[in-house]
Amino acid sequence: MDVNTAGESADTDVDAVVIGAGFSGLYMLHKLRKQGLDVRVYEKGDEVGGTWYWNRYPGARCDSESHIYCYSFDGDLHEEWEWSERYPEQPEILEYLQWVADRLDLRRNIAFEREVTSATYDESSDTWSVEMADGERVSTRYFITAVGCLSKPFRPDFDGRDEFEGDWHHTARWPEDGVDFSDKHVGVIGTGSTGIQFISAVGGRADHLTVFQRTPNYAVPARNRPLEDDRYEEIRANYDDIWERARDSRLGMPFEHEHETAYGLSEDDIREVLEERWQQGGFRFLHTFEPGSILSNAELNETVSEFIREKIREKVDDPETAETLVPTDHPYGAKRPPMDYNDYYGTFNRDDVSLVDVDAAPIERVTAGGIRTTDDHYDLDVLVYATGFDAMTGALLALDVEGPNGRTLEQKWNAGPRTYLGLMTHGFPNLFTITGPQSPSVLTNMPMAIEQHVEWIADCIGYMDDHGYDRIEASEASENQWVQNTNMLAENMLFSEAKSWYRGANVPGKTQVFTPFPGGLDNYREICARVARDDYDGFELGRPSSSAGDAVSEADD
Ligand code: NAP
Repeated sequence: MDVNTAGESADTDVDAVVIGAGFSGLYMLHKLRKQGLDVRVYEKGDEVGGTWYWNRYPGARCDSESHIYCYSFDGDLHEEWEWSERYPEQPEILEYLQWVADRLDLRRNIAFEREVTSATYDESSDTWSVEMADGERVSTRYFITAVGCLSKPFRPDFDGRDEFEGDWHHTARWPEDGVDFSDKHVGVIGTGSTGIQFISAVGGRADHLTVFQRTPNYAVPARNRPLEDDRYEEIRANYDDIWERARDSRLGMPFEHEHETAYGLSEDDIREVLEERWQQGGFRFLHTFEPGSILSNAELNETVSEFIREKIREKVDDPETAETLVPTDHPYGAKRPPMDYNDYYGTFNRDDVSLVDVDAAPIERVTAGGIRTTDDHYDLDVLVYATGFDAMTGALLALDVEGPNGRTLEQKWNAGPRTYLGLMTHGFPNLFTITGPQSPSVLTNMPMAIEQHVEWIADCIGYMDDHGYDRIEASEASENQWVQNTNMLAENMLFSEAKSWYRGANVPGKTQVFTPFPGGLDNYREICARVARDDYDGFELGRPSSSAGDAVSEADD
């Protein structure tokens, strides 16, 4: 009989299996363990951290301000921890999560270096059987994914990709020991949030940095700075209020907006408030107006987009390079807005940094010595893929989930993900997806969205225990309505005007459908709370003896 890491027999049931030991998995473990469940977390890496374990590229930093990019559930945690800068850098976030894992004694329930290769639902026992790459198998009542929304790296399948004889790295799988760029010709593909951070950090550290850009982006200054003691004291003194406002906001950030909409304001007034917010930096700029209005009012959006375009032109010396860096193909915010930490646009004024427009002259192939576009060949020693992720669904589908009757999640989501509240998907009982598709997730400050999901799931399991249920499943009707609702909200916004990972447009062949819930964290929280209050309205609950066919709704309890 195989023995797992805790020394138990491999066929031992646990109450809950959680996949992933990042922000979500750690809190889910803590919450369920406190409710008396036997929980096992499986983590592919050899440490906790999730996103912040894997994304160690130079310049990696979070765009949410540090005092709100952390857990809010335990006052002692933010009383004891102190962030050093306005925006936290990757090593500091990783250190924070390691500290939380130790502080809450979480490691004893985490099995590291365990990659899940399949999860299969056994109808006869109403349990999930989860299998690891090393053959270990565990059966569980609840199967909870905490795999993150941006965790399966995407690397374009360029012709000749494997012929490159230099070093290549994807930013999301960066070597722990780092990469030496000195005296090297470095090429980087991608100018999303990651590429922008990487380029600003590495420009000037390599003999030459060549940036291969397909679509320019709107980078807003973050205005990072050290967090002074008095600012920290003010934050600590007001934490309760900060968290309350964050939970009640659209983006999970406690920032006031100057105006609800731009209605009635002159163009000059709008530009004045934009300039104020530009000076404040970061997501406060997106909050100049109620964020929903910038993302749904095309005229206002064009004013904001043009404001940023002018800023870009001011910063770049060479007019031709400036025009290549100015985005005109999509409205601001229709793609995830990136932040500029280190004079991104000014980096292109350096002699040792050059920009190649691979929209105008596409990459033809990777060669042994570099990259060939339709125009030219670029000699490279190091090639960096800052090319993003198979977002939102990639990591979930990689788990190879098979529900009752042998139907796989991949089959079910063939035409795009379908969920109820982003928490469960019909046909897959007792499978909870933290920050799953059609929940606010990536459109918010992630820890806020994560905490809400974890707490909802823990409450739901507590409710099931209290009422003698052991099986829960989203009903098909409620799922259909939720998917329709999410799509409708997205269609009324400007998201469809960009080829973004929000819509799966970055991965060739992927079904294009807007995936996060765009109605705001505040509204979403209310909907989830009402569903729970109404005895899990829209879910079907079943008792131990019930099979898939005789799941009973809560109404007959
Ligand atoms: P991304 O936004 O998807 O950007 C990928 C980049 O690679 C884009 O510029 C894309 O060009 C380019 N690309 C992809 N395939 C290509 C091809 N075949 N040829 C040429 N260029 C290609 O990925 P990301 O920058 O890793 O960011 C993903 C998300 O992670 C962010 O939006 C954000 O939510 C999160 N993130 C957050 C932070 C932070 O908080 N500071 C930092 C990094 C990432 P196109 O635009 O033309 O597709």
